[in-house]
Amino acid sequence: MSVSWYEFLIMSGIVSGSAIPSVKENVFNWNYNNEKFRVENHLEILGINFSSDYESITILDPQLEFDQIDQLLRRDYCGGQENGEQNIISNISCVEPPIRGVVVQLNRLGLLTAGSCAGHIQQNRRTLPWISFFTRNDTLVASELFKSLSIPIDYYSLDRLQINVTTNELYRLALKLSEIRSVDDVRKGIFKVRKRTLLELLQIPGETGNENSVREYVIAKLKDHKRECRRLFFSVDRQGNILGSTIPSRGLGRGIGRAGQALRKKMMFAAHLDVVQEFSPSDKVVMKGNIVSRERGILGADDRAGVAIILNLLREVGGVRNCPPFKFVFTVGEEQGQYGAEAIDLDFFEDVSFGISLDRQCCRDIVYKSPSQEYSTREFAERVERVSSRIFTEENKYVPCEGGVSDLRVWSNKDTRPCVNLSVGYCKAHSNEEYLDLSCWDRTHQLAKELISRYNPS
Ligand SMILES: [Zn+2]
Repeated sequence: MSVSWYEFLIMSGIVSGSAIPSVKENVFNWNYNNEKFRVENHLEILGINFSSDYESITILDPQLEFDQIDQLLRRDYCGGQENGEQNIISNISCVEPPIRGVVVQLNRLGLLTAGSCAGHIQQNRRTLPWISFFTRNDTLVASELFKSLSIPIDYYSLDRLQINVTTNELYRLALKLSEIRSVDDVRKGIFKVRKRTLLELLQIPGETGNENSVREYVIAKLKDHKRECRRLFFSVDRQGNILGSTIPSRGLGRGIGRAGQALRKKMMFAAHLDVVQEFSPSDKVVMKGNIVSRERGILGADDRAGVAIILNLLREVGGVRNCPPFKFVFTVGEEQGQYGAEAIDLDFFEDVSFGISLDRQCCRDIVYKSPSQEYSTREFAERVERVSSRIFTEENKYVPCEGGVSDLRVWSNKDTRPCVNLSVGYCKAHSNEEYLDLSCWDRTHQLAKELISRYNPS
């Protein structure tokens, strides 16, 4: 089977398909001169005959057969790995030929890659090709994209997908991807599912002391997730807090802890179930663009926004094979002296390395101290800041600051230090003007996922 020259250039990763204004069989019209030189250089190395004038390249050789491609491209492979380059196409010779085209297409779609491998024969077994992504959110976007194309993948770790296809199929995958213009719909689909959890939580009342129905909702969701992630454990303590872990762990009740694993330290996420005053589900939640509010009364995004993030994280990463384990807490009674958090058995915190509360107003705060108490060193808060500045623009990055009283005070006293409280996007909490900015809320989800992957000690 022969391939057109255009298909060849896509499969070889020499062009991304976004910069060629017109292609006619073996003639490529070109307006971008630097790009034109780059392509000519590749063609020369590969020994392909062509002629070139001011604005076009004409290939003079007969079309290639599909099974000649791999051998030919290996002439232009200098080894090594891509390393998070923004413009991988200009350095494509360092990426293994069978996966080059796929890597170029993913980067064209805005899914920046940090590494890849085309798969190798090792002890008579072929290891699978893999691609790792610059942000953990993009790993999920890519996995949904591959699923929509019926490409078999294994969500191997939070930054890496394994692709269960042969060498030849990798070349064809590049062609398939080249037909896709945008992944916006995939991103929107992911966001929509996350948002659904939040909107459901905003329909369930639960003033301090009256958390029963919201607790039932969270437990039902956790039971759902447990079907995808068998290693999810949770229990409800005497006070009504939900305590959980994505691996057998200390302090979750008898019979769950497993010797040897028990004391490997894990990070902990926390949010509170109660709202400061009752709202009526019949008072509608209103959405204007990215802003969510309620017709009358408080919205209750303090702290259902945090609860939703933890549930969404568990749904999205629970089934990921090599996801570092973490713990989570949904407390009662935060709005009245944090009595729920106070009542949690100290055993639960024994294997916690650090705590992240998801219960701070606004968009970019990393609360690490109050006027009277330090919850974490500034250095730890700055580590969180650095992770955020890696994945967000300067104006969206998170910044260490001082804040008020929350469950964070209790984590700190129980020696779950360091601990910080991250903004989850709600504003004017405890008032009828309360609203939530969904884009801030979603960024905190992305940051939390990044933290799980980068800063889990186990
Ligand atoms: Zn709160």
